[in-house]
Amino acid sequence: MTQQHPSLALHDGRSIPQLGLGVWRTPADATAQAVKAALAAGYRHIDTAAIYGNEAGVGEGLRASGVAREEVFITTKLWNAEQGLDSTLRAFDASMQLLGLDVLDLYLIHWPNPSRDLYVDTWRAFVRLQSEGRVRSIGVSNFEPEHIDRLVQETGAKPVLNQIELHPRFQQRRLREYHAANGIATQAWSPLGQGQLLEDAGIKAIAARHGKTPAQVVLRWHIEVGNVVIPKSVNPGRIAENADVFDFALDAQDMAAIAQLDQAEGRIGPNPLTAAF
Ligand code: NAD
Repeated sequence: MTQQHPSLALHDGRSIPQLGLGVWRTPADATAQAVKAALAAGYRHIDTAAIYGNEAGVGEGLRASGVAREEVFITTKLWNAEQGLDSTLRAFDASMQLLGLDVLDLYLIHWPNPSRDLYVDTWRAFVRLQSEGRVRSIGVSNFEPEHIDRLVQETGAKPVLNQIELHPRFQQRRLREYHAANGIATQAWSPLGQGQLLEDAGIKAIAARHGKTPAQVVLRWHIEVGNVVIPKSVNPGRIAENADVFDFALDAQDMAAIAQLDQAEGRIGPNPLTAAF
């Protein structure tokens, strides 16, 4: 039986389902099936990006699912090469054409790419798209506080959400505190540590105690700390497993054990301050 997933409020008055399906590295020709499986399992939130090359599959899966468009929250992201005012507006049109949507729920700047220094102009394009009603909410990904502060200072518009690498081995406490202080939602990418965390003995022990899987324990941890979470799988069994996290709770001992897994060098992906691609 599928359950309705909880949503988190965004500072622009909208809300986002706390759990979604990520589709990075999902092959274009497998995306529609994965999206359909997720929607059948109760997901109402899909996370894609222009660079993933599978926006068309997301739209196809949504249309084939029988679930009404308005019930599903769709995110896509502007790729680095398209940053800048006019190029962002063009890239948005291209994404919307591939998705087959009139209105997008959430548009994110994928990386700040500070060495190119175009993210403020890009953000001005995002503000314009929102004022035109083409996108409901606007946010960022892989931004550090200094980048977000600059957006706010120069445009007066604050992102609703920052999508960042976050999992028990890289818990991002400082950035989560900054988000909380500023009313910005935290969204976790690679929430399962790209699968690596599922072999951790401590996570396995907690899973055994609750009669749940390691993936479910890690995703439940994200839900309890207040993250929006977007695990990726193409396997329908795992897609359903990853959403079956709303019928149990971690206790204080579990939370303390997971807190211990945090590592200063626990990052898997690039450092946003230096990443230039
Ligand atoms: P993830 O942490 O979601 O791990 C995915 C991998 O874990 C899968 O390939 C699969 O092998 C394994 N897995 C998933 N469910 C499992 C289960 N129940 N049991 C066992 N193994 C399981 O990693 P991810 O795909 O890197 O991140 C999730 C999503 O985050 C992406 O698909 C994408 O949407 C987003 N993302 C965004 C950025 C960004 O820069 N904004 C970067 C990376 C990922």
